[in-house]
Amino acid sequence: MSVAFHGAKFCWMNGEIIETERALVSAMEPLHLSIFEGIKAYVENDVNSSGRLNIFQWKLHVDRLWRSAAVCGMKIPYTKEELLEATRKTIKANGFNTNVYIQPRIWPRGGVPQEVQVVIPVWTFDSLLGRGNARFTRERRFMISSWRRIASDALPPQAKAWANYANSALAMREAERLRYDGAIFLDNRGFVSEGTGASIMMVRNGRVITPPVSASILESVTREMLLRVIGEDLGVPVDVKDVTRVELYASDEAFLCGTGWEITPITSIDDLTLGKDYPGVLTKQVSEYYTDIVAGNVEKHRELLTSV
Ligand code: PMP
Repeated sequence: MSVAFHGAKFCWMNGEIIETERALVSAMEPLHLSIFEGIKAYVENDVNSSGRLNIFQWKLHVDRLWRSAAVCGMKIPYTKEELLEATRKTIKANGFNTNVYIQPRIWPRGGVPQEVQVVIPVWTFDSLLGRGNARFTRERRFMISSWRRIASDALPPQAKAWANYANSALAMREAERLRYDGAIFLDNRGFVSEGTGASIMMVRNGRVITPPVSASILESVTREMLLRVIGEDLGVPVDVKDVTRVELYASDEAFLCGTGWEITPITSIDDLTLGKDYPGVLTKQVSEYYTDIVAGNVEKHRELLTSV
């Protein structure tokens, strides 16, 4: 194997920095009980340049990693501080000084919960955050998936288990086959749940509305933070409540939010155009505020940043 994983020459595996192409796992490994996290480090002051990096919401991501491990019966054989140091080392080993995506992956070797393996791959990414409309020249058409979101009595949507992403991958395949940009799940009751890798928020009559955790969603770090800052800092009322498919069709704006998808505006759902602007006014405001928070430009939210 000669191509380094996503261009990152080094990763961290079971206690040491190694070349990514040497991070090999046996083809005989059962991986169905593996878990992961998706974390981002952004450049300070200007997310789309290069410079000093801060990991965004490290603590909440790593807390969720521990919860996901517990749900799958695994005990992580490192402290949270050790994983932070490992992450810093990995980013430095690669010499990155632009936005970095960090994806700790954990699985029980041979399916044995006591034999926990940990790898931390990292790679750089282009952010959708920033200012102005130039980022949103392309429309983003979504569909309601014919696949329902996994119910929490079948798989744990609140944990970040890879098995859950088979559900997401099927919905994405369907969306690609039908030429949409992505899919929105309904939960097993028929209420709006989330995207394939992000939470969903909609705007109706000046209020931001998002489904509750009981709608089979991942407990999103981004969603939690946005619910707080949209209400407290932007002064926009927020409701956490069940949303019907029809309410979503009739929304003024809708966007996906999450570490990976950042703030991704939605143009239409099932070919029904939402509202009159793309992206919507509030979506843009949220996206720009999020840009400022991750870049460390909002003093009172700098506590969410952990320096690399
Ligand atoms: N839902 C799903 C299914 C996801 O994969 C993600 C990405 N982790 C999210 C929501 C958003 O979660 P977070 O804000 O913690 O990244």
